[in-house]
Amino acid sequence: MTRSFFAGSYGGDDAQLNDASLLECRICWWVYDPAVGDPVHQIPPATPFTALPPDWACPVCAGQRDAFLVVEA
Ligand SMILES: [Zn+2]
Repeated sequence: MTRSFFAGSYGGDDAQLNDASLLECRICWWVYDPAVGDPVHQIPPATPFTALPPDWACPVCAGQRDAFLVVEA
């Protein structure tokens, strides 16, 4: 195995995502839903994952963006 991410994972590559992509934290399983945003970090609804600030992290466990897996692309 040379790949560290299974098929469908985010792997830090924004090109895999579209504006409606849901992403799940692989550490705590919290799901980022673009339709909801992230109230913890004052991210408004309708914010795609790719538009999150570079320093954004999981609001539950503070996992980094590249720890997120695509749930629905
Ligand atoms: Zn998390």
